[in-house]
Amino acid sequence: MFPDSSRPETDQDDQWKERIDALERGQTRLENTLRGLGRELDFSIGCLCPNCENSLMIRSNGEMYCPRCRNRTGL
Ligand SMILES: [Zn+2]
Repeated sequence: MFPDSSRPETDQDDQWKERIDALERGQTRLENTLRGLGRELDFSIGCLCPNCENSLMIRSNGEMYCPRCRNRTGL
């Protein structure tokens, strides 16, 4: 199943590190894009949704809501 499992462990570690680095870069790009979008469209990103924990809250017009589960709270 893992044909190159005989290779030194450090190679595997490097591969994981590269993958994690790529994921982190992708996440940072998304965060920057979202923040820029928020500035354009007058909303900002809040805390983690306490209801579903699957999305960050969107802050807009004096209230916060979760785009995932529609949880809505006043500020
Ligand atoms: Zn939610």
